[in-house]
Amino acid sequence: MTDRPQFSIITPIYNEEGNIQLLYQRLRDVMDATGESWEAIMVNDGSQDGSLALIDAIAAQDERVKVLNFARNFGHQIAVTAGIDYADGHAVVLIDADLQDPPEVIADLIAKWREGYEVVYAVRAERHGESRFKIWTAKLFYRLIYRITDVNIPLDTGDFRLMDERVVRVLRQMREHNRFIRGMTSWVGFRQTGVDYVRHARHAGETKYPLRKMIRFAWDAITGFSYFPLQIMVYFSGILGFLAVLTIPVVATLRIMRGPDFFGGQATTIVLLLMLSAFQLFFLFILGQYVARIYDETRDRPLYVVSSTRNMNGDDEKNGAPTKEALKRPGTSHRTSRNFE
Ligand code: UDP
Ligand code: MG
Repeated sequence: MTDRPQFSIITPIYNEEGNIQLLYQRLRDVMDATGESWEAIMVNDGSQDGSLALIDAIAAQDERVKVLNFARNFGHQIAVTAGIDYADGHAVVLIDADLQDPPEVIADLIAKWREGYEVVYAVRAERHGESRFKIWTAKLFYRLIYRITDVNIPLDTGDFRLMDERVVRVLRQMREHNRFIRGMTSWVGFRQTGVDYVRHARHAGETKYPLRKMIRFAWDAITGFSYFPLQIMVYFSGILGFLAVLTIPVVATLRIMRGPDFFGGQATTIVLLLMLSAFQLFFLFILGQYVARIYDETRDRPLYVVSSTRNMNGDDEKNGAPTKEALKRPGTSHRTSRNFE
């Protein structure tokens, strides 16, 4: 038990070769300054560039750096999940690899944790080096999520945060496949607070979140934490039903006054038919989206596949790691403790 580090820093890495060296140096400086033990879990999410070789070289020199290498690209939220599963620390910090989240802010997060908060999230007071479109859509997204979900998800907050082991233990039990980690953390509860910070431009490389992925991410957040898209159907059905009832006396009156041909013709019928079909198909699509998510859960595949690890040996026995029983449960990750060589 004594060899558990105080802090675990989790970084998802997908094609970040230009950032890794500086990330490691800045993390090391910040964490060494705390005077406490720490580990850094670098999750290589199927990078196609030299990222793996770089983190591997760092891990070979500094055994506090642990490598979790995925069998393919599983996505940002899944990479963070794996890091959470493997973390041993009493407090766990999630941070991006591109240095948009300055590692120095971790000191502020830790200070709040010491005050007794179980979750300390970093709030983007300012954002630099991102397109207007991204900032605007992100703002809209956070506000929409805030309005339509039941859990209190803080505004303008990404995954950059510190979580106490009590929260981490709960998160490990939440094996849902379409994951929105910041929502899941809010759902857990305990004492949560925010710390303002300035989000910088990427140090190197480009965003791995093109519009397509952003929409998917937003949709996972909405479907994972809200029934709103299903519930608005009832309003539409109400409005359409009301219109239908209203149409009968209106058309009857007009025909009596202006002759039987008024409102005749197929054009009106065709337009209405197409419009209503479009409505119905749209809501069928929404229904399908929820059904597909049920399907994802029932198939119960592991969330990720680990190809290799480094500096992770024997972690099953350690206290903070997921227990063997938990990992035998269907739907949990497959841990293969095969080391590189
Ligand atoms: N990332 C990942 N897998 C992916 C996409 C991204 O592990 O499929 C990592 C990426 O390397 C970075 C973090 O997730 O450390 C955030 O990604 P990015 O900076 O591209 O997102 P943005 O900050 O632009 O929203
Ligand atoms: Mg980024």
